[in-house]
Amino acid sequence: MSPPFRARSVAAFAAELDAFDFGETRLTGIHVHHTYRPDHETFARLGGRRCVEGMHRYHTGALGWSDIAQHESVGPDGAIWSGRGWRRPPASSRGHNGTPRRHPFMFEMIGDFETVEDRAHDRLTAAQSDAAIGVCALVCRRFGLRPGDAVKFHRELGERWKSCPGNLIGKDAWIADVEAWEPGRVANETPAAPDPAGAPGAPHPRYTVRPGDTLWSIAGRHGLTMPQLSEWNDLDPAHPIRPGAVLRLPAGARDIWQNGDTP
Ligand SMILES: [Zn+2]
Repeated sequence: MSPPFRARSVAAFAAELDAFDFGETRLTGIHVHHTYRPDHETFARLGGRRCVEGMHRYHTGALGWSDIAQHESVGPDGAIWSGRGWRRPPASSRGHNGTPRRHPFMFEMIGDFETVEDRAHDRLTAAQSDAAIGVCALVCRRFGLRPGDAVKFHRELGERWKSCPGNLIGKDAWIADVEAWEPGRVANETPAAPDPAGAPGAPHPRYTVRPGDTLWSIAGRHGLTMPQLSEWNDLDPAHPIRPGAVLRLPAGARDIWQNGDTP
């Protein structure tokens, strides 16, 4: 895969995984990391594509690796970005990367989910958590893996000084979520599906598109999925949106970056 990197929804990732020709390759587990840097602030400034391209540059340039380390990167907006080809072992953790035929699937969640002196740096957004849990569940199902055995946090791979994917992320709850995951399931914290268009009396917030915004970033910062936002506004996701355009949002949608609190 490698550049150009592509962003997909969970549903699109599921379809791609289903159709992908793994040949002789079997995925034997799933390794979960956080990026630490870029963090959510960098993501808000640069967007997902530039974050992923920056990691690719760092891994192939400064670190001298053959490709970006991870198979996927999951943004705070819930976008799942392609990375290293799925038939190649990841650069996840020395001694745990497997072989071309039998290796783990490895993804990074963009953010720094670490508490330092009681202050959380970033928190998983509902969209990001949904996408990351979905990736784990889908890979488990594709290869008949049991989540409790197959899903490993980086900190479990023998590097004791690592807290990755961050001390804010608990393993037991994560595994329970992967086991309970169903396609289309929406986490508790996610706002309910948009209410019917034109519902009388419902206050519908609006958002004016700013330079650098994408449908992904606008959906993510309002706790929506991109399909929700594009359907709500009759937009074709393949077409770029223009600064100054006014988008309708479901009642109750709020800007999580502006308020400074994530769901
Ligand atoms: Zn890690």
